[in-house]
Amino acid sequence: MSQSIKLMVGNWKMNGGLAANASLVEPLLDGMSALSCRSALCVPAPYLAQMQHLLMGSSVDLGGQDVSAHDSGAYTGEVSADMLRDFSVRYVIVGHSERRQYHAESDATVAAKAQRALAAGITPIVCLGESLEEREAGQTEAVVKRQLAAVIHANGHCISEIVVAYEPVWAIGTGLTATPEQAQQVHAVLRSQLQAASTQATRISILYGGSMNATNAAELLAQPDVDGGLIGGASLKATDYLSILKAASR
Ligand code: PEP
Repeated sequence: MSQSIKLMVGNWKMNGGLAANASLVEPLLDGMSALSCRSALCVPAPYLAQMQHLLMGSSVDLGGQDVSAHDSGAYTGEVSADMLRDFSVRYVIVGHSERRQYHAESDATVAAKAQRALAAGITPIVCLGESLEEREAGQTEAVVKRQLAAVIHANGHCISEIVVAYEPVWAIGTGLTATPEQAQQVHAVLRSQLQAASTQATRISILYGGSMNATNAAELLAQPDVDGGLIGGASLKATDYLSILKAASR
């Protein structure tokens, strides 16, 4: 079973600035007031304080883009889950393919990050997905199941508190999107893996991410196991993002 109210999460990646953030958020909040989906914005760490202030009193939750796998200590440059919590962060992305690829994050590291977030009362948005080579080699199912298994193994009964985002690596920032059928197929696999791991798995939202835009959002979100979206590029323009959120609110 899937979630009836969609969860839509914007991932700003390494974009933004004090002035640009304020001008993006203002029309977003105006347009969002009439919408019925749940939503969050995952912003660069230096802007958490600004965004906590801008989003205060709105229905939009604040998210981080990464969290340390450690609690505290000599880890220069890292941000702990407790630090995120200090800024009322509700969600944090872990295991984004850009972290797995450019920062060599392993399945075990991603699982540990999810664990730290959960311990601080923050919902980890666990990203997983196959590369183009893996898809072409028929390994999609095996890859996503392996990535999810590591998080399930490390998080035991807390697993029902996570959010999962299926993000095929070949679709992120490329303009290529999984077809609704391709997305549904993988989401169904992830759903049954989660159901096998927890009796509370119906609580878990499974988001699709990868070049979601105003044109393709409605069809992707209409799939029975697609509970929402993780949106990168299109979340940086208020009009585009609002169109996607409208599609999610039908
Ligand atoms: C992402 O960064 O998680 C993402 C899905 O990016 P885009 O929407 O730009 O493909």
